[in-house]
Parts: sequence; structure tokens; C-alpha cells
Amino acid sequence: MSIAATRILEPGQIEAPAGLIRFLILAGRDLFARRADRFRFLAKGHSLGNYLAFLALLAEAQQVALDQFPALSLPGPNEQALCREHGMPLLAARSWSRDPAWRVALSMILQRMEAAALPSAACETIAELRQASATELEEKADRILAGDLADISPRELPFIASALQVYWVRMTSSLGEGAFGRLEQGGICPVCGSYPSSGIVGSDASEPGLRYLCCSLCASQWHMVRIKCSSCESTRGINHFILEGSSGAVKAESCDDCNAYLKLIYLEKDRQMDAMADDLATLALDMLMDSEGKERGGPNLFYHPGGLP
Ligand SMILES: [Zn+2]
Ligand SMILES: [Zn+2]
Repeated sequence: MSIAATRILEPGQIEAPAGLIRFLILAGRDLFARRADRFRFLAKGHSLGNYLAFLALLAEAQQVALDQFPALSLPGPNEQALCREHGMPLLAARSWSRDPAWRVALSMILQRMEAAALPSAACETIAELRQASATELEEKADRILAGDLADISPRELPFIASALQVYWVRMTSSLGEGAFGRLEQGGICPVCGSYPSSGIVGSDASEPGLRYLCCSLCASQWHMVRIKCSSCESTRGINHFILEGSSGAVKAESCDDCNAYLKLIYLEKDRQMDAMADDLATLALDMLMDSEGKERGGPNLFYHPGGLP
């Protein structure tokens, strides 16, 4: 794959008035099964095939953990109303007091991954995490949720992050869209306050052509107008890049004002694309943007800032 830059123009999009647009789309209960299929598909013939195939197994384990998730505590109607009224994320990643049930999800994921024929380094990591104390695991979770991914071992990150994702998806699907309100800041998740891993254009659940940002933690999608930087909301100096020779199904949208970029995934090119899987299958585009001096506007929790393990 060539990683030469191709700068392209993005046509403006006339959108319906904001009030008529579905503002929030929560992840479906089959999110991880679909994601696993996508990772498996992308792994075929890919230079990072082993890595993507490993993530397919991890996503499968996430689906099992979601399906068998134990009972958990959720915010009540008063708390929901208060957050909606004050424009605060109800399940804020940094401050929500986590139910220990998320560690049950982690155990389920580790148990399933243990049964897979993984390389010895991954098996060692699984064994270490299975022996880690609750305090140690909670500290690691705190760091991930605070965005300090560089402080976590690259081998541990995907396992712990995968359990946290399952926990947040489980909470959102129990509460439903009506529990959540809009935030003033358009670039962070209205559900949990995290940054987006990527943006999706043309979601199944909305009008064609609209852009939704996809949360790196809870996989909720929230509407944001196109031709606007998702990091600083500037409308000037927005550029789009694709890898030379690519179909344009994944583009990087960069901003001259804040120097951030976010990948946009165009579902009209392929309905099976996934916000997390297709992001990781296009790391060459991240290398290109890095060489342009741009920084990612949000993390992918399966990707360590220090590179692949
Ligand atoms: Zn979120
Ligand atoms: Zn910006």
C-alpha cells in the first residue's frame, strides 16, 4: 500500500435543521459480533493480518461478555434529569463510579482468550491480568479512562479496554437514548465524555450523508455537522486526505487551526465497515498524517500510542 498523500476536496453538505436530525445513536447489542466479523474480513491478506485476527477474537470475547454481563447499578431518573439539565455526560468516563461487574466482564474475556491458541507473550499477559488484584485493575482502568494510554503496557491495554467498552455498552443499552442530553462541546461523547475514535458518514440509523462521531469507549454515535473540525469546531482550513490508490472509503479530515485529524468512514462505500476495525486496518493513513505533522483527535483504545506490541 502506498502512503503518499492525496489531498482532496470534500463537497459541502446541505443538512436538515439540527432539531430534525437524530442526535444520538447508541450501539446495538450485537456490536461486538459485527465488529469481530469485520476484523476477520479485514485480516485476510492484510500486512497486519495477525494483529487484526487477534482483535477479531477479542471482539468475539467482548460479545460473549456483553451477552452474559451480570446485574449492574445504573444512574436513576433524578441523576439522569440533572445531567440532561446541566449538559453533563451521565456516564462520564473519568468520574463515573464503576460497578465491580466490569471486572467480571474482564474475567470472562480473559478466560475465553486463554482458550484461544495465542502466542506465548499474549498468554503471559492474560495470566498476569488474571492474577492482578482488584486495586491494580482499577488503577489501570482509571489511567485508560483518563486518556493516559501511554502509562499502560501495550500488551495489557486491549484486554482492559475491551472490558471497559463492554461495561459502557451494557450501561448505555440498558438506559436507552432518552437518558442522555446534548453537551455544549460537540466533539466529545454526550454519553461518557470521551473523544471519538473516528467519524461515520451515512449511518444506517440516520438520513444519508450525515456525519456521526463514534465514541472510543461506549461506541455511541452523535451527530456533528460536516466541514467542521471535531476537535476545535473550526470551519476554516479543513482538509481531507486519502491513501493513494484507496477507494476513499476512509479519509482523514484534518484541521489547520488545532492540527488534529479524525478519520471518516464512508459507509456508502461499504455498509460492513466498522468505526474501530476499519480505523485499525488503516494505520498507514495515521502514519501519513503523522508525517504531515497532524495528531489524532481521539484514541482507538486497542492501539497503544507507542505502537503495536
Ligand atoms: Zn461514549
Ligand atoms: Zn481543529
